[in-house]
Formats: sequence, C-alpha cells, structure tokens
Amino acid sequence: MWALISYVRVSHGRLATKLRNSIYAKTKAELITASRTWALALLLVYTVVLCCVFAWFFLQNLAARDLWIQASSWRANSLRGLYLGLAIGGLPIYLNRFFSGSKRFPLIIVAGAHSPACLQIATVLTLVVAEETWRALTLYALLRDGYSSQTAMALSAFVYAISYIAYGDRPVAGKAFMGAAFGSLILWQGSLLLVLCARLIFESQWVWFAVLAASNATPEDIRGVRSSRCPACGERISVTKLRSEGFVCPFCGESLSVSDTRVSLASWAWLLAYVPLILATLALFPTLQSDAGLLGAIFLACGFGAASLALLQSMFPPELQCGEPNFIGLNLANRKVKSRPRNSCKDPADSGRNSDEPSIK
Ligand SMILES: [Zn+2]
Repeated sequence: MWALISYVRVSHGRLATKLRNSIYAKTKAELITASRTWALALLLVYTVVLCCVFAWFFLQNLAARDLWIQASSWRANSLRGLYLGLAIGGLPIYLNRFFSGSKRFPLIIVAGAHSPACLQIATVLTLVVAEETWRALTLYALLRDGYSSQTAMALSAFVYAISYIAYGDRPVAGKAFMGAAFGSLILWQGSLLLVLCARLIFESQWVWFAVLAASNATPEDIRGVRSSRCPACGERISVTKLRSEGFVCPFCGESLSVSDTRVSLASWAWLLAYVPLILATLALFPTLQSDAGLLGAIFLACGFGAASLALLQSMFPPELQCGEPNFIGLNLANRKVKSRPRNSCKDPADSGRNSDEPSIK
C-alpha cells in the first residue's frame, strides 16, 4: 500500500507544480487562455502515470489475467461498458433534479473543452487508460494482500480522491464517488475493457456538455452546435441553459420554458422506453436477475435514460415558449423584476425566478 500512496503522491506533486498558475485563474478569459497549457500538462502528467503503472505491472511479473483482462467475450464487455458509462454519467443529472446543487464543471473539464479536438481526444484517452489501469492494479494488489473486496474498493476510492486534493475539496467528493463507482464495476464485472469503455463514455459525455456550456462565444461558434431561439428577443440560447422547471433568457430577461409539446413528447418517450430499458438492462447483466438486483437495474436504467435524454436534447434543441411550464406555481420567492424588453411576450412582473445557469469555475 505505501508504494501506491507514494506513487499517487508523486503524481499529485507534479499536478500541483505544473498547474499552479492556471489554478489561480480568476476569470473565465484567463482560464481559456491557460486552457491549452492545461490540457498539455494533463496529457504529460497522465502519460507519466501510465508509464509508472506499466512499469509496476512488468516489474511485478503479473499476467494479463491479473489486470482483469480476458480475451473472451470482449464484444459483450465493451457493450456493457458503453451502457454503464452512460448510466453512471446520467446519475448525477438525475440526482441534480432532487438535490439542486452547483452546476459547475470541474476545472479539468473546462480546460479540456477549450483546447483543440486532437489534444482533447489524446488527453481523455491517456487519462482514462492511466487511471483505470491504475485502479485495476491497485484492486488486484489489495485483494492479493488479503483485503476483502469492499475494503479494497473503499481504500482505492479514498486514495484516488486524495490524489485530486490539489483541485480543492469539492472535486474530491466527486472523485470519491467515481472511484467507488468504477472500482465496483471492476470488482462486479471483472473486466478492464468494460471499465475502460465505461470511463471513456463517461468522460466524453462531460467534455461534450462542457463544450456546449462554454458560452463566451455564441453557441454557433462552438463547432456548429445547434441552439434554441428566444421567442421574445430572437437571440440564440445554448441548450445547456435550458431548465425543465423554467428559466430566464440571459439576453432579455424574459421568463421562458421548453415548449409543452416537447415536454409531453419527452415524457411519453420516457414512459414507453422505461420498461424496455429495464428489461434490456436485465438481459445485458444476467447477474441482476434477483429481487435486489432489480433495484439496481431500475437505478441503472434511470441513469441511462437521463443521459440519453440530455444528449438527445443537446442534438435536437427544443422550441421555447414564454412563461413558466406550470401555471399554478406562485414563485413568490426569488422575484427579480426586470425592465420590459423589446418584443416582450408577457408582463414583466411575471418574469421572475433567478435562473441557476451553469457557470464555469
Ligand atoms: Zn430573450
């Protein structure tokens, strides 16, 4: 264990020194200028980590089997990995509806979102391979030393979270969740390939959302991503600003919501897809076919559904309408009366509610 922790500490030290300048960036513009350096530095750091992991692997004379690599059933494992990557990525979206928290993207993802596409792909690939191979080796070493699988999972998640402490305490909680989630995947499915696919989908998803949310530029500037048009002022609004509970136009302050037809379409699609999705989950993971496993399948189906809906919405931006979706809501709190904009489609006294649009750290 001490070797693992000191190895993680070395990588943590490199991160701290390489990225010290960017970490204190106060404005979005400063962060964007530092973003290419960030992505390059991260690529370098993760390459070093990857080399250390491989060196460790060869020095220990381990077999591929010890790294959770199985030659058989690679198709099934990559398919399961794709599914689980979306499901784990969707769970935070789903949980955010119940625990409305900060909608900030981590610094690391914002940095990635502003760098060139080839650099993004190289960095994400290196990050995924380095971290997941490290996790697989760590779990193997802990299990070999006689720890139970729960203890091994908890210890590896803890060490993983600690290695990110340079970014502040908020990302550490997220990293602990990720460490536990992907560690459990390795122990549950016993396949490194599955976890690599899952992690790749998970990271790509968040880089995609961060690219959409990088709204210093107009939405069209961001690689042809489509956007919705405000019915009051006609400005284009990035899809990441849309909220199902209603939101305020960032340009004219008009109270807007996603059109009723789109909302009912989404609810019907969700209703019709829900049961087939649970059945598909059970077919993909036969070990879930028990009473307790059914709960897990429902949980995974929710995550997968939320991620798919969010991705679909980002590809097919909805029509917008004036006013809030539910007429009954009084919304007496958080009222913010704005001056009446041009072409306003409603009395300004009704435009209220501070929108919690995603901001970038
Ligand atoms: Zn507007």
